[in-house]
Amino acid sequence: MSRNYNFCPRCGGRLNERYAEGRDRLVCEKCGFIFYQNPVPAAAVILQQNRRILLVKRKFEPRIGEWSLPAGFIEWGESPEQTAIREVQEETGLNVAVRSLYGVYRGKDYPDYEILLVVYRGEILSGELRPGDDAIEVQWFDLAHLPENVAFQLHRNILAELSNEMG
Ligand SMILES: [Zn+2]
Repeated sequence: MSRNYNFCPRCGGRLNERYAEGRDRLVCEKCGFIFYQNPVPAAAVILQQNRRILLVKRKFEPRIGEWSLPAGFIEWGESPEQTAIREVQEETGLNVAVRSLYGVYRGKDYPDYEILLVVYRGEILSGELRPGDDAIEVQWFDLAHLPENVAFQLHRNILAELSNEMG
């Protein structure tokens, strides 16, 4: 069980843990609602120019002041590609296109939930580099000289992969 909730979001009845559809889940004792708990989908973008990679310094919790790939949660009604493009725009001021899927990862960096991170390679189309509302700073880093404080294990792994590819 990933998170503990007390009440049914549908009817307000009490949720109890019991076996349902193959595993223990929170089930409403009043209306039978099953509170499925799934990983939370997010998208991130790799913007790379030769040996350099664009990172943003986080303005909000978790991990304020640490660096990460431009990334964010997928909003209701958004495709992963739309999230990727929106997050880059919000955090860096750049308009990008998504060029290819880099990989899909399981992230366990948040205490309360798991992340399903869809990572794309993007290409800059236009715009001027400036930190947006979600970022303190935006900066290009040489893959051989990455900052010490990269926010998430998953992002550290991806950056290490990219560094290795460069040899
Ligand atoms: Zn209910």
